[in-house]
Amino acid sequence: MKIVRYEDPSGNIQYGEKREGAVYRIEGDLFGAMTPTDEAADVGRLLAPVDPEIILCIGLNYKFHAEESGAPIPKFPVLFIKGRNALQHPGAPIEIPTFLASEEVDYECELAVVIGKPCKNATVENALDYVLGYTCANDVSARDWQKKMGGGQWCRGKTFDTFAPMGPCLVTADAIPDPNDLEIGTTLNGEVVQDWNTRDMIFNVREIIAFLSGSTTLLPGTVILTGTPHGVGMARTPPLWLKSGDEISVEIEGIGRLSNPVVNEGEK
Ligand code: MG
Repeated sequence: MKIVRYEDPSGNIQYGEKREGAVYRIEGDLFGAMTPTDEAADVGRLLAPVDPEIILCIGLNYKFHAEESGAPIPKFPVLFIKGRNALQHPGAPIEIPTFLASEEVDYECELAVVIGKPCKNATVENALDYVLGYTCANDVSARDWQKKMGGGQWCRGKTFDTFAPMGPCLVTADAIPDPNDLEIGTTLNGEVVQDWNTRDMIFNVREIIAFLSGSTTLLPGTVILTGTPHGVGMARTPPLWLKSGDEISVEIEGIGRLSNPVVNEGEK
């Protein structure tokens, strides 16, 4: 099932099921009982399909991306966190920071995993039982603050407002039996800049969930960003940075396309 979250014209947040090109209202919500109806949804504004409890992110999780970043292949998953403030909705702008200014804002297409029930000490074998579904994410990254001015920590450069767009829908886990066999890519102003497959993750989705849930409860609504393949802007010659007026899209097989315009902070 493809689930969208939206605001209706009265400002109420609702869920809907996307089927045959239309959206039908769902009774209930993502983490309780969900009952699809045949009532046409009155979608005012599409929202990110989940309001995350926390956004856990894995870095350097594709071999060629680790190489293009000049980093060794990690022996354990590399973890960092984005704040909920960074969430952005499909079609809503990514803002280039101008107050704490960045000159080097980059894109990263990522498969996002949404945890559906409390998950602690999962095993590689049962890890996918905890997954509610999957969506597309863009791990937008200010490389100057991530690399040079972040004190060796990645969070400063990765958790600016609007730096975690997600959507356009959540595809339930039953519809994606193997999350590590999906085409994934990015287009910038219509030009393909990333084009790869999730089978090349260094740590697959099962291993990531087992690792993150070790002695640690992943609450329902935890979103896990699983890393990006090669082709990011910082690794290009010359580097390719996002700028106001751009349109950036992340697309994953079986999920759909997440598109966001780019503006400078404070612009509409
Ligand atoms: Mg990333």
